[in-house]
Amino acid sequence: MKPIIVELKDVRLIYHDPQAEMLAIDTLNLTVREGEFVAVVGPSGSGKTSMLSLLCGLITPTSGTIRLNGREIMVPGEGIGYMLQRDHLLDWRDVEGNVLLGLEVKHMLNQETRSRAMELLNRYGLHDFRKNYPRQLSGGMRQKVALIRTLAFDPDLLLLDEPFSSLDYQSRLRVSDEMHEIIKDEHKTAILVTHDIAEAISMADRVIVFTERPASVKRELSIKLSAPPSPILRRQAPEFRGYFDLIWKELDNGEQQTGIQLRTSVLSEAN
Ligand code: ADP
Ligand code: MG
Repeated sequence: MKPIIVELKDVRLIYHDPQAEMLAIDTLNLTVREGEFVAVVGPSGSGKTSMLSLLCGLITPTSGTIRLNGREIMVPGEGIGYMLQRDHLLDWRDVEGNVLLGLEVKHMLNQETRSRAMELLNRYGLHDFRKNYPRQLSGGMRQKVALIRTLAFDPDLLLLDEPFSSLDYQSRLRVSDEMHEIIKDEHKTAILVTHDIAEAISMADRVIVFTERPASVKRELSIKLSAPPSPILRRQAPEFRGYFDLIWKELDNGEQQTGIQLRTSVLSEAN
């Protein structure tokens, strides 16, 4: 078995504000091994983004422990690449400038890291666009640039928070396919948060279903599909629908009238 990269043990998180306390995460246990691609799905407001904020050290748990490579997380963001819904590219920097930004901010820009970043741009088809500005790129390409910026400093763990949600459906399929390939090629460990069940199944080796807030793990499913690794092709696998139905039920949608209609439309979108 591959070594454990991330380990959350009995993690609880309470948000305090002047009026009240709010339990956002309760007894969350989760282990991710090197090279795994794990997707987390859960209702909106269940605590998914909060878990990512804990993992990158932006906030600290009220109790419990979080370990990255066996060490408790102390320094925010160390060894972690965080990609958000919005790409946060700087409009006034070209692609190359944006890709190097993370390295500059982290004081890691040197000859070696620069050439690694340029090689990533080459390898993933962005070399010809390196002097372009973000406004000249499609949404999907911008997300790819954001991913390469994150990969440039060679993080041990990638955190992806609904990275495709601002894209239209076609781009979403294409970009998720490309990003999956890049992440696997680079042998990265990734945690993808999404509310899109089909996206989770098509991209991940394992899907974790969260309960409603406070978040804990409701169900874990190892995804085994008889299909090539590409997410687009994985959507065609015969086992896909079975996983979809299981996760759909776990999310408590099965009994609702509107749920049935929505399910039909989501499935036809997924296929
Ligand atoms: P998700 O990403 O699953 O939609 P979040 O982790 O963003 O959920 O939020 C979980 C709950 O915690 C929500 O009820 C949200 O309003 C609350 N919350 C998130 N961030 C904060 C914060 N900084 N302070 C107080 N409450 C927060
Ligand atoms: Mg969120």
